[in-house]
Amino acid sequence: MSALLEVSGITAFYGASQALFGVDLIVNEGEAVALMGRNGMGKTTTIKTICRMMSHRDGEVRFADTDLAKLPSHKAARLGIGLVPEGRRCFARLSVMENLMAAARAGEWDFDRVADLFPRLAERRDQKAMTLSGGEQQMLAIGRALMTNPRLLILDEATEGLAPVVRQEIWAAINRLKQSGLSILVVDKSLKELSGVADRYVVVEKGVTAWTGAVGDLTDDLADRYLGV
Ligand code: ATP
Repeated sequence: MSALLEVSGITAFYGASQALFGVDLIVNEGEAVALMGRNGMGKTTTIKTICRMMSHRDGEVRFADTDLAKLPSHKAARLGIGLVPEGRRCFARLSVMENLMAAARAGEWDFDRVADLFPRLAERRDQKAMTLSGGEQQMLAIGRALMTNPRLLILDEATEGLAPVVRQEIWAAINRLKQSGLSILVVDKSLKELSGVADRYVVVEKGVTAWTGAVGDLTDDLADRYLGV
C-alpha cells in the first residue's frame, strides 16, 4: 500500500499558543483512518493543517507525493483533498443544487451520483440550504466535498448533534464511500460506528500522536486511557 497522506512530526500554533507538538499519521490509498482523542487534543487542528487552513511549523505534510508546506487551501483542494468541516458550513441562501454545483469539478462524482447516495438531497434540490434539517445540511456538506472529486475525503465530526436515525444514514453513506475505495480520514466520537468503517485508528493526546494501530488492537484499557470511554 502506498501512502496518500503522510503527516510526520507536525507542530502548529494559534499565535503564541502551541496546539500540536508532534502529530504523525498516514492514510494509505483506499484506507479509512479514524483520528481520535478527547476534546481539545488536537484533532481539528491536525485537519486544518492538512487542509492548509493553518500552517505547520515543524514536520511535514505530504499528499500524493507533494509537500503541502506553503500551499494555500484552494490549491490543496485542487490536489484532491475534500473536507467536510466541523459545523457543515453550506451556503445558506443557495439551493441544494447551487451548493453542489458551486463545488463541482470534473470527475466521476456529479449531481446524480450524490443524489444516489443521498436521495433526500435530490428531493430538496431547489430548497435553500438554510431551510434544510441539520441532517440534510450534513448530507449536503458531504455532497459538496464529493463534488470536488477528492482522492481523500476528510470528515470532521460529521454526525455531531444529529438524531440517531439520521446519524445511521450518514454512517451508511460513509460505509458505502469506503466500500467504493475512497480514502477517508474521519473524526468522530462514536467508537462503535468508527469501528465499523475504519481500518486503523490514530489517537492524539495533547497534540501528540499517542497511539496508532488496527481497529482490533484498541483494547478497552487503551480506549479508557485515551478516550475515556
Ligand atoms: P474537539 O473534539 O473539542 O473539537 P480537538 O481534538 O479537535 O477537540 P482542537 O480544536 O484541535 O482539538 O484544539 C487543540 C488545542 O488548540 C486546544 O487546546 C484548543 O484549546 C486550542 N485551540 C483550538 N482552536 C483555537 C483557536 N482558534 N485559538 C487558540 N487556541 C485554539
